[in-house]
Amino acid sequence: MAKNGTKYIFVTGGVLSGLGKGITAASIANLLKARGLRVNLQKCDPYLNVDAGTLNPREHGECFVTKDGAEADLDLGHYERFIDEEMTSVSSLMSGRVLLKVIQDERAGKYAGDDVQIIPHLTAAIQDYIEQAGAGFDVHIVEIGGTVGDYESLSFVEAIREFSMRAGKENCLYVHVVYMPYLGASQEFKTKPAQNSVRDLRGLGIAPDVLMARSEKPAPESVKNKLSLFCGVEKEAIALLPNARSIYGVPLELEDTGIADVIAHRLDLKVSKPNLKDWREVVKRTTTDFSDTVTVGVVAKYMDNQDTYMSVFEALRAAAWWSDVSVDIRWIDSEQLDKEGMDVAAAIIGCDGVVVPGGFGTRGLEGKIKVAQHALKSKVPYLGLCLGLQMAVVAAARNAGIEGATSTELDSASPDQVIHVMADQKGKELTGGTMRLGNYPCVIEKGTAAYSCYKSTEIDERHRHRYECNNAYREKYESWGIKASGLSPDGQLVEMIEAIDHPFFVASQFHPEFKSRPNRPHPMFSGFIKSLKK
Ligand code: GLN
Repeated sequence: MAKNGTKYIFVTGGVLSGLGKGITAASIANLLKARGLRVNLQKCDPYLNVDAGTLNPREHGECFVTKDGAEADLDLGHYERFIDEEMTSVSSLMSGRVLLKVIQDERAGKYAGDDVQIIPHLTAAIQDYIEQAGAGFDVHIVEIGGTVGDYESLSFVEAIREFSMRAGKENCLYVHVVYMPYLGASQEFKTKPAQNSVRDLRGLGIAPDVLMARSEKPAPESVKNKLSLFCGVEKEAIALLPNARSIYGVPLELEDTGIADVIAHRLDLKVSKPNLKDWREVVKRTTTDFSDTVTVGVVAKYMDNQDTYMSVFEALRAAAWWSDVSVDIRWIDSEQLDKEGMDVAAAIIGCDGVVVPGGFGTRGLEGKIKVAQHALKSKVPYLGLCLGLQMAVVAAARNAGIEGATSTELDSASPDQVIHVMADQKGKELTGGTMRLGNYPCVIEKGTAAYSCYKSTEIDERHRHRYECNNAYREKYESWGIKASGLSPDGQLVEMIEAIDHPFFVASQFHPEFKSRPNRPHPMFSGFIKSLKK
């Protein structure tokens, strides 16, 4: 056994990026949890950023926030949704964080005169982070971002190679995810890229124990013979993974390949029979074509990358499955709506309701305010998430005649900044990791729409914001047709608002989407989706 009793599974990827390594890692975790094991996951990313907070969501996708306030890679969202456990900051490790630690230690004299080197110092620091994240769990699954052979992920690959000496070979298992293209002309799946990738991995000192071969379409079992021979992995340890109809179906497809039992056996894990009953129900719902469909307009800035709003979309879908409807998600370009004279009613025509998700910067803000103004006036169901709350308050103020009402983020010179910068945030606007981050409690007033969703007066939700409601205007809310229905326990911060006398207009300063699960939809999203059902 490893010193702390944890077994480690390392997941690498080859041939190309975007193979769904995160989903694969999360699916393995799902199957091991279903066998009664305590599982943690960790994503190692080769970026030199210290965390994902400063990454551009257009390129990198959503920034996921953990309960303890880490700004993390979106794969952590998959992890949480697939194993229904809350991750913490140790589950997200970027090269920048490790480098910073090593350099800080060097400056503090901790290396006592040694030459500080990638090997062994940086790789040892990576291993320390991995060991720390795995402590207390039966199995710890570590996903290495990027593709094997990339220059920038070499130190992670070297660290996980060395790790088997630290923790013992018998406690480590290496899973390599590869891609198998299908060649139409010869009508066959080609294994050469997979072979080359395994050779690259071996060249770095790691012989994979398990091979997951991804393909667009189902490949015949016979390709396993070739993969096995040329990649040196036993047939029983190879899983063929064609595209699934729903990502949530991947654990079940993996289960059918028998690979989870192979992994459990190789790591000598004490497992019970898998209990996948609840997950089968989830997958059934994700793949049911319900007879009713609701259409939701997501008023967004980044129109070309679905990943930017990953948790919001997954939360909408989960709420829909459990409300027995299908959901059609449409993008409404907020920047188009920014333009003067744009007709909001026309832009959202066909939408049963609108969502204004989180965001930063000034582009598209006017468009979002216009949508909120329209939703208030025309009683269109509205769900506001963080920025969506802020824009809703501005909209209500403007509808009530305060034409210059705005947020400091949009206009720091306006006399009516109904949303302003939090007192302790002044001057930190361009710095990383300085926002109000992670879980904070909120007290909900009984008899409100917020209460109808949660059916509870005390909740905890995840935050990531710099601006907040300006308390100087709070007394005016009711005259603007809105109400602060959720507050911080000391009453100082507005956490939720809603429109008075409206079918559904609820917004939160926090991000409820991060706590939605495919098996447990989030109450705010369920409340919103139910309000759209005809
Ligand atoms: N930009 C706003 C703020 O910093 C909203 C943030 C968000 O939507 N996550 O407060």
